[in-house]
Amino acid sequence: MRNLPAVLIVEDEPAIAELIAVNLRHNGFRPLWAMDSLTAQRELDAVLPDAILLDWMLPGESGLSLAKRWRADSRTKSVPIIMLTARGDEMDRVTGLDAGADDYIAKPFSTKELLARLRAVLRRRSPDRATSVVSVGGLSLDPATYRVSFNEQLLKLGPTEFKLLHYLMSHAERVHSRSQMLDKVWGDHVFIEERTVDVHVKRLREALGPAGTLVETVRGAGYRLTAQPLVAPAGPNQSAG
Ligand code: CA
Repeated sequence: MRNLPAVLIVEDEPAIAELIAVNLRHNGFRPLWAMDSLTAQRELDAVLPDAILLDWMLPGESGLSLAKRWRADSRTKSVPIIMLTARGDEMDRVTGLDAGADDYIAKPFSTKELLARLRAVLRRRSPDRATSVVSVGGLSLDPATYRVSFNEQLLKLGPTEFKLLHYLMSHAERVHSRSQMLDKVWGDHVFIEERTVDVHVKRLREALGPAGTLVETVRGAGYRLTAQPLVAPAGPNQSAG
């Protein structure tokens, strides 16, 4: 079973916190609520959430001060923070981002916008946070050391091919459309053509050598990485010719 991403809502107004929590729950997140800075700190000490929605004006320590503190702390510094505030002017926006917030949203906000921004910060952070080794069909990828091997032999990949492979291996056997791959691998703020995906898939296959057949083209749909390719990869003892 997959773990739902946990989102800590730090907000002293119960009506707003409840509205956010309901929407998060309906959209595949696991909301946690802290109504003041002390409770928020206790939650963070217990377990790190995947993201924090942080209200600016809180009783006691302000959201701004919390953001600064959490950014300075090595344990919490990589948790994405979105600041929520009734103040909307440019000065405050800059102050919030300077304090270490990843994004900023002014009240009143649409829950749709909030969810979109939340997904965006999670996507931007996820490459750093995912550090476990993935293995599929003899291929092995270690995000912590940036190493890829096939049947114990190290392979050399460019940064985009590495990200692409990481994504495909993390969702093996599933078919991904080009636009899904653009969104997940290249990110939400890059405007590039879908043809770019084909170029990088081609480079990825070349870099993978005999394991290149594990990356399959699914006609009319996109690409998938499979442990059981239609064309079996050449064994390690076979010469490339
Ligand atoms: Ca408040």
